[in-house]
Amino acid sequence: MRRCRPENFSGGWCWVKNKIHERLRLMNPLAVTRILTSCTCKVQRKLIRFAWNGHRAIRAFERRRKRGLPFFPAFLMLSVTNRCHLRCKGCWVGQTREPQQLSLAQMHGIVSTAQKYGSRFFGILGGEPLLHPNLLQLFAEHPGAYFQLFTNGLALTGEVASQLAKTGNVTPLISIEGLENETRLRRGGDDVFARSLAGLEASVRAGLFTGVAASINQRNFDELVSVDYLNFLVKKGVHYLWYYIYRPCGSEPDFDCALDEERILALRRFIVEQRRKARILIIDAYWDGRGNAVCPGAMGLSHHIAPNGGVEFCPIVQFSGDFLNDDASNLEAILQQNPLLEKLRTFTSGIGRNCVLMESPNELAAFLQEHHALDSSNRDAFAELQTRSPMICHDLKGREIPEQSLAYRLGKTFYFFGFGAYG
Ligand code: SF4
Repeated sequence: MRRCRPENFSGGWCWVKNKIHERLRLMNPLAVTRILTSCTCKVQRKLIRFAWNGHRAIRAFERRRKRGLPFFPAFLMLSVTNRCHLRCKGCWVGQTREPQQLSLAQMHGIVSTAQKYGSRFFGILGGEPLLHPNLLQLFAEHPGAYFQLFTNGLALTGEVASQLAKTGNVTPLISIEGLENETRLRRGGDDVFARSLAGLEASVRAGLFTGVAASINQRNFDELVSVDYLNFLVKKGVHYLWYYIYRPCGSEPDFDCALDEERILALRRFIVEQRRKARILIIDAYWDGRGNAVCPGAMGLSHHIAPNGGVEFCPIVQFSGDFLNDDASNLEAILQQNPLLEKLRTFTSGIGRNCVLMESPNELAAFLQEHHALDSSNRDAFAELQTRSPMICHDLKGREIPEQSLAYRLGKTFYFFGFGAYG
């Protein structure tokens, strides 16, 4: 595959570049130029197209909201199967005797319906999505859509990676929950860390736009919230790092492992500082440009479809107003006529800016019962909510840290703000 390599950056240009960088407090240009020198041209073209379509999807979403037009989220997350090779501690996916998965007809139906509203970006989750037999076919048959593949990397072989490079519209986001020991503790198996890294290396070798996801908890904080870890990923050829805050949920929630307020503040501070310096892009879906907490579900920016077809608020609030039919032709009706999600958006944004599952689980349970929500978790999610205590999360009331990097501030200001959810 032909790679684009700009030759011979001169000394004079570097000086000018650093001056601009200093003055405008932009971001480290290497975080972008590394994409130009390591991703295939097709992958870069699709990435640019994704950025443009993402811009249009947000504007269209905004227009629908302002003009009171039928609701449709800007992005959708699809958990295509609950099958997985691993049984990670703290995973929210409910396992079933017979694996659950979205059919190819349903996945086609979801993508085609969403594209009618200009929504062309899809998060693909699981279980382990690469265990879905038709997933690569879905990617190939929707070249105008862009997919972020949340994977543990174990099934991301060289062969699969080169197939993804051929379609060019998929960015693998490999979840690495700690270095070797922490991975062994959390995910089981002595070789899981090495096998996830092998998947990551296959993705980079194929010239894919490659990301790593990390769900930060008390145990992996020092390992993963560090400049050493960022440099480790840069050396591996990774282009972006997506930080999540560990939320204890699922059948084995580890409440003691959740971050306290000081560590959430430290994570936020690290993200903001490193966005100006790091040679890797750093992503979060928690804070706007001023550092105010937001909830993508409350804003209606994204919603989630479970492997059993349940149309849910988000991956961890596993309740639905209804389930998809065989070809997902009822998706619009569920999103626009079934009142649950709309009422849940109003309820959560009315409670505050924090993660409702973490801050107000009992109130959430009462609300869901009152509105006859369907439990789509394959567990007893009502009991889980009723028995858990409120916990700290990403709303750092009064201690907000605004973005320092102009590039990220602009990105957040135009593409990730309240969308009217918080007045
Ligand atoms: S409820 Fe929590 S996990 Fe779900 S979208 Fe909101 S902040 Fe995220």
